[in-house]
Amino acid sequence: MNNFTFTPTNSSKEATRLRRETPTATYVAGATTLLDMMKVNLAEHPQLIDINALPLTGIEQTKDGLRIGALERMSNVGEHPLVVQQYPAVSESLLLAASAQLRNMASIGGNILQRTRCGYFRDADFPCNKRVPGSGCPAQHGDNHGLAVLGTSEACIAQTYPGDLSVALMALDAVLTLENAKGKQRRVPLTSFYVLPGQTPHQENILEPGELIVAVSIPAAVHAQRSTYLKVRERTSYAYALASAAVGLDVQGGTIRAARVALGGVGTIPWRSPEAEKILTGAPATEATFRAAAAAALRGAQPREHNGYKVQLAQNTLVRALQKVATT
Ligand SMILES: Cc1cc2nc3c(=O)[nH]c(=O)nc-3n(C[C@H](O)[C@H](O)[C@H](O)COP(=O)(O)OP(=O)(O)OC[C@H]3O[C@@H](n4cnc5c(N)ncnc54)[C@H](O)[C@@H]3O)c2cc1C
Ligand code: SF4
Repeated sequence: MNNFTFTPTNSSKEATRLRRETPTATYVAGATTLLDMMKVNLAEHPQLIDINALPLTGIEQTKDGLRIGALERMSNVGEHPLVVQQYPAVSESLLLAASAQLRNMASIGGNILQRTRCGYFRDADFPCNKRVPGSGCPAQHGDNHGLAVLGTSEACIAQTYPGDLSVALMALDAVLTLENAKGKQRRVPLTSFYVLPGQTPHQENILEPGELIVAVSIPAAVHAQRSTYLKVRERTSYAYALASAAVGLDVQGGTIRAARVALGGVGTIPWRSPEAEKILTGAPATEATFRAAAAAALRGAQPREHNGYKVQLAQNTLVRALQKVATT
C-alpha cells in the first residue's frame, strides 16, 4: 500500500478543486472498496479527498419521484419507508447486498462506482486488459465461471459493475446528477452511464476526471411501485449475484401495460433488456409470456467454458421475479 494524505473537505467546490490540482488524487466516501484496492496495490493514490462532510445527503420525494443524495448510506436508503413502499426493487437490491456492517458504511455513490470482482483483475500477477490496457485477458480461456455472458468482447468478459443497486436503478429509469470541476451539473440516465468493454475495457463509465456523483433520481411510476429484485448467489450471507433480476410491471385486468427488466450478474454492465420489455408490454401476465421474455433477454448470450449455466439461471431468475410481481 502506498503512503497517502487524507484531506477532509466540506464543499463540492473545494473537493473538485483539490481533485483538479492533483489528478492522481481520488475521492473517498465509505472506503469499503477503495481501501481494499489500495491495500493490494490495485489503486495507488497519493491523496484521498474525504467527501463525507459534503451536503450530498437526503432521501426526498420530489414532484417527479425520489431524489437520493450520493452520500446516503446503503442501509438508510434500503430501509427508508419511501423506498420500501414505492421502489421495492431498490430497497431489496440494497438489503441483499454485502453485509449489514458494510451497508452501514457504504455510500450510494461509492456503490455505483465499485469495480469488477474478476479474480484476474484483482491479482496483479496476472495480465488484464482492464488493469493494464493491451496486456491480455486470461479469463477468456481461464476461470470464467463468475463472468459475463452478455455484452462481452475479446478484450474483456468481466462485469464492470458486479453489484446489485445499479441493476434495480437501471430497470426503474434512474438518472444521475453529476457535478464537474467547474461546479457545472449535468443529468445522465444510468442506462447511458456504464460503457461496454469493446476494445477499451479500462474505460468503464462516462464520468469525466474529477466529476462527482451528487444524487440519484428515480421517477415515480406504477411499475416502480410494483417491482422486485431477485438475487441468486452461492450462499445466503454476503455474496455477489451469480444472476439477478430487477423487474417492474403495471398489470391491469391481467394484461401488462408497462414493463421494466434489468439483469445483474450476467452482463458486462447492468443489463437492461428492451427485448424482454417489448414481449411483455401488451401481453397477458402468464408464465408463457414470462418464459418468452426470459428467452429474449438471453438471446445474445455468448457463454465461455465455465459460465454456460448462467443462461438458464438468469432465465429462471427472471421468470420467478416476473411471477412474483404479477401476483402481488
Ligand atoms: C466483502 C464485500 C462484499 C460485498 N458484497 C456486495 C454485494 O453483494 N453487492 C453489492 O452491490 N456490493 C457489494 N459490495 C460492495 C460495496 O457495496 C461497496 O464497497 C460500497 O458500496 C462502496 O461504497 P463506499 O462508499 O464505501 O465507496 P468508496 O470505497 O469510498 O469509493 C469507491 C469508489 O467510488 C468513488 N466515489 C465514492 N463516492 C463518490 C461520489 N459521490 N462521486 C464520485 N466518486 C465517488 C471513490 O473515489 C472510489 O473510487 C461488497 C463489498 C465487500 C468488501
Ligand atoms: S475479464 Fe476483464 S477484468 Fe477479467 S482478466 Fe479479462 S480483461 Fe481483466
